[in-house]
Amino acid sequence: MALFTPLRRWQPAFRPFSRQPAGRRLLALTERVVKGPLFGCRMCGNCLLQETAFICHMACPKGLRNGPCGGVNNGYCYVDPTRRCAWYLIYERSRRMHREHKLLEVLPPVDWDRAGTETWGEVVRVARKAGFRKIFIPSAREGKKLGEVLEEKIFRPIRQPDWWQGDSEYHPPAVTEPQSALERELRSGRFVITAEVTPPLSAATGRLKEKIMLVKPWVAAVNFTDGSSAVPRMSSAACSSVAASLGVDPVLQISARDNNRNSLQSLAIGANAMGAYNILCLSGDSPRVGPAPRSNMNINDLDSVQMLWILRRMRDEGIYLDGRQIKNRPRIFLGAAAAPYAMDPAMQAIRIRKKINAGAQFLQTNLVFDPDSLDPWLEQMDKEGLLDKVFILAGVCPLKSLRLARYLNDNIPGVNVPEEVMRRLADAGDHFAEESISITVENVEKLRGKRGVSGVHIMPLGWEEAIAQVIDRAGLMPGLITP
Ligand code: SF4
Repeated sequence: MALFTPLRRWQPAFRPFSRQPAGRRLLALTERVVKGPLFGCRMCGNCLLQETAFICHMACPKGLRNGPCGGVNNGYCYVDPTRRCAWYLIYERSRRMHREHKLLEVLPPVDWDRAGTETWGEVVRVARKAGFRKIFIPSAREGKKLGEVLEEKIFRPIRQPDWWQGDSEYHPPAVTEPQSALERELRSGRFVITAEVTPPLSAATGRLKEKIMLVKPWVAAVNFTDGSSAVPRMSSAACSSVAASLGVDPVLQISARDNNRNSLQSLAIGANAMGAYNILCLSGDSPRVGPAPRSNMNINDLDSVQMLWILRRMRDEGIYLDGRQIKNRPRIFLGAAAAPYAMDPAMQAIRIRKKINAGAQFLQTNLVFDPDSLDPWLEQMDKEGLLDKVFILAGVCPLKSLRLARYLNDNIPGVNVPEEVMRRLADAGDHFAEESISITVENVEKLRGKRGVSGVHIMPLGWEEAIAQVIDRAGLMPGLITP
């Protein structure tokens, strides 16, 4: 791929921040000349080629380091639909090379101090520090494979610095008490309803409060999007604070697009002060899909897996990323997004397992308009033993208009509105609203019967009034709302 598309890369090559000694500059130049054409390397200085089946993940416009976002569309990137998704290619090649296990390790964000510098010299420096004897003698005497010793003594320490220490293991939450009303409700085993309220475009909170109060009697928690579609509006944090003041359990959505490692940790601490204990980690829509003039389209500082890893460690180990201790650890119930239709179920399972390992306790899925089409994904999750480790809330939407149905089907990656639904809505005429509610109720009822689905997440897309009707007609018990 890299050899044929060198001029279509999204990010320019990185340069070091400080002047390097002549020898290292020469080495960096050699590395650039060799790895650039071969792998599309941009000299991020934090090389992951061994983990990514020798395809540079920096070809991803978001620079995601732990797998694809939910925008993969038939293997193509939604940010630039003319290009294959870098991570899709990595998954495909890893499978062919039987290196899928390498995709599970939670990899650190870029250490920007190293950006633009050479990485080959680092291998020699770490080997020297570890002691060449300790590397080669055990492999010769104890019959250990040289590759394994090199991995353990050299490559892993380079890849996983002390401040990160990522691995491929599942880390169950260290806290036993439910961290939020939503977690308590999910643990109770009842079928749970959450809803999404779109933050307002204006500074006035009157309409926002009305919407929150409209859904309050029916749901266990309310999500507030964080600049969805890269459109600025009231922040998820401000809306969460308003919701908490009204006695509603908010789900604070944090998008990696508009945050970095510092703001994420500050937000998580501040969220507790506001009464927001549920945090949903997202990579976020690319500014490319937002309005012009577009904001920074460089790579993100973090991806959603890294966000989960950082927040879980803040809660369970009481440490900031830089190692400082947190005296009063934040209460956090951690969530992530899932896009069941983005790739085939086996590939999806790798991505979901990684999110769960990193800390995700609940998943909210993309919109589901055909519940039976969710089965292959659920079966794969079941086969891999993931269903018992996470609560799944399937996304549903009462469609407000036929135009919206067509828009979602044609423009949102991973959303498929079946022909049958389109036909029913088109034939409904004056009874459109009634028919749309009926379709949503049928979907909720089907989802309710599926093993592994703990509830539904209703995204009314501006039709909040429909929520009460859906829940009432589906005969669901209104959710608890006390945070
Ligand atoms: S932005 Fe998403 S879809 Fe595009 S290359 Fe990156 S991971 Fe793949």
